[in-house]
Amino acid sequence: MSRPRTGGLSPFERLRSRWEDEDLVCPECGYDDAEGRWLAATAGDRVQYRHLCPSCGHVRRRTFRLDGE
Ligand SMILES: [Zn+2]
Repeated sequence: MSRPRTGGLSPFERLRSRWEDEDLVCPECGYDDAEGRWLAATAGDRVQYRHLCPSCGHVRRRTFRLDGE
């Protein structure tokens, strides 16, 4: 059986799993949203991530392109 070099995860999944482990601390109020996650929405060759702080309502957005592989 061959082993994919990506470990079986798509770029999308690798980005998401990385962010679920870190950077859930709100830069505005310092709340650590341990139960939260970045929500992803694909748009063409890009993925937009959004995180809403449950404490103060601050929204962070990040956009990644998927053509970098
Ligand atoms: Zn906050």
